[in-house]
Amino acid sequence: MTGTGRVRLLPAAVCPAVLACLLAACGGQPVTSQTRSAGDAVASPAAVRTSAGPGTASPAPSPQPTAAAKPLAGITVGIDPGHNGLNGTDPSFINHIIWNGRENETCDTTGTQTAAGYTEARYNFNVARYLLAALRADGAHVVMTRQDNHGVGPCVDRRAQILNHSGARVAIDIHADGGPTWGRGFTVLEPVADGPNDQVIRSSERFGADVRAALLAHTGMPESDYYGSHGIEFRNDLAGLNLTTVPKVLIESGNMVNATDAALLTSPRFQRRFAAALLTAILRFLHK
Ligand SMILES: [Zn+2]
Repeated sequence: MTGTGRVRLLPAAVCPAVLACLLAACGGQPVTSQTRSAGDAVASPAAVRTSAGPGTASPAPSPQPTAAAKPLAGITVGIDPGHNGLNGTDPSFINHIIWNGRENETCDTTGTQTAAGYTEARYNFNVARYLLAALRADGAHVVMTRQDNHGVGPCVDRRAQILNHSGARVAIDIHADGGPTWGRGFTVLEPVADGPNDQVIRSSERFGADVRAALLAHTGMPESDYYGSHGIEFRNDLAGLNLTTVPKVLIESGNMVNATDAALLTSPRFQRRFAAALLTAILRFLHK
């Protein structure tokens, strides 16, 4: 199926990087430097692993698996936490044009944010760090496209290259959407064959199905009711999917503009649960 990019018209007054906003994977109100925040505390791997489900607020520590038993030993996994906390401070860099495998695209965008100013970049990075810790606890080698939330970039084509060259068996781009205020839910964005990604279309679809199933089973976030079909959408206009040579999907975790979703997305408990669900999906995909 042919993907279609979404274009949302935003008032220029709230969108200093208009081009970036128009081309963004995640729409909604842009982030400004005034709304950024420092990084959040990150839980230990054990905290991530033991907080995956409801009713596990104070579980007894579970023993770590032995080296021989670790299910991801020797396996590399890639994580791209979308955007970056200071992208709004350098529009000339963020708005410069890159080739995304099918067409021109801006280097990156600011991403979206909640009504209260909690940024998508912050959410993306928090979930990435929780997932990083959980993957490492299972023995994986993890490559991330950025190491903190107080930088600019890298560009989306560079992010794809980092993961392509990492030796990763699977990768995930972590985002949250800025949809209509009434809309709720997650959407798994999947690649469309364009040449560079031809060899990973089927595997990415399998991984996307695993991500969808794990999110429905473990996070409490519903499928999107405003975008995609049954929580899935194919996109042919995003560098991260067009250029990938690694099985990969981009997850729009929920709608930061919707009050119900925002309450979940800004919750550390939900972020840990979301990361645990992504770990479940990665394990399922790699061990089929
Ligand atoms: Zn995004």
